Amino acid sequence: MQVTVYPLPEAVTESAWAIREGPPYVDLENRILSVPLAEDPHACFLRAHEQAHVKWTPARCRPDRLAASGTSWLTLQAVEDCRMHALLTGAGVDLTAGGLAAPARLSLARRMRAAGDFREAVLCAVAAFATGDFADLAAACDGPLADAPQLATEVRGRLERCGLDYEATVRVARWLDTKLGRRDRPTDNGRTSGELPGGSLAALLYGPNGNPGHAGLAGCRPDEPGAEGRFVPWGVMTIRHPELPLPVAAYTGPLRATDGGAFLRYPHRETVDRRVFAARRPRKGGTLLIDMSGSMSLTAADVEQLLAHSPASTIAVYSADRSAGVLKILARHGRRAAAADLLRPAGQFNVIDGPALDWLATQPPPRVWLSDGRVTGVNDVAGEGNREYANRVCGTAGITRTPTTADARKFLAADRPLV
Ligand SMILES: [Zn+2]
Repeated sequence: MQVTVYPLPEAVTESAWAIREGPPYVDLENRILSVPLAEDPHACFLRAHEQAHVKWTPARCRPDRLAASGTSWLTLQAVEDCRMHALLTGAGVDLTAGGLAAPARLSLARRMRAAGDFREAVLCAVAAFATGDFADLAAACDGPLADAPQLATEVRGRLERCGLDYEATVRVARWLDTKLGRRDRPTDNGRTSGELPGGSLAALLYGPNGNPGHAGLAGCRPDEPGAEGRFVPWGVMTIRHPELPLPVAAYTGPLRATDGGAFLRYPHRETVDRRVFAARRPRKGGTLLIDMSGSMSLTAADVEQLLAHSPASTIAVYSADRSAGVLKILARHGRRAAAADLLRPAGQFNVIDGPALDWLATQPPPRVWLSDGRVTGVNDVAGEGNREYANRVCGTAGITRTPTTADARKFLAADRPLV
């Protein structure tokens, strides 16, 4: 049996956190914690790691706050991970499993060795120091990378001598940058340049720290198509329930003949099949989820059409700005929202496709997703992992995707087959 284990960040901070199943990632500012929820020891390690950030990493740990201090964001993230592991060890947490299963860890070690980049190797060793991931990474450090594990040991020692608070991270990161030479220069929006193609390997280890709207997603730049092979965290989704003051027209279905009832309508059938009564044929209900991001170019009038032609359906629209979005329910149980509520519910981006599809998966079937198939995470960045996520939800929940309003209408207006 698959067991789902929920972390409880509220146990370490006062306020509520949004917990999301996914790759390890924490957004300290918006209080989002993304972690794997499986029971295996690596998932358990990653939950401990991210919850350590919740407890010990201050919200000011952001790339845009670093520009002035002269520290590079990637270095700071690796040193901060090292500090988390020192504090977790001090708290008695067992870190021997590491965050990666053996094949993934060895593949990362191979990539690190093939890149032959001393700075990357040091950052990986620093981030993984004193965890079950360290040994394989250190073993891959030969030739020009040979000094990397030693430097990681020194980082840990310096952190401990500085007292293991966040200021220690900033100070040790600055020292480490003088050793490595700065390569990633903070740009004015807080992102960095000069990373390895495909992003920093160190950032792949335990996921980015800090605010996803900034450099946390190493290598992902806004509007950059296809961060291949990567999962970009979804934005935060809010569900809105506007008032549904209007009845949906023609909620009941067309008449059909039946052999029981009170509405005598087909007396001529008495001798044929005795189905002389008429009853309303139930409409196919179902749920329609409408992607209202800019690329879909849907107007309130299009949504109005869909409402008129899908009388028995639950209908919702969604869109987002760069980091958060809104799913708005426009029709349910034969009632619908007023015309003023049919506009795009938030910004022009996708960003919340994952959570919106998760919602659709819980609604009455048949389930239709009106979308051009483009899915994105924060900053409207498309990742291969995000497409896979959407495909997986559609597959398991039997969701039909259609790019045209005409097809969506046809699908939902069709009568349920008689039983
Ligand atoms: Zn971390």
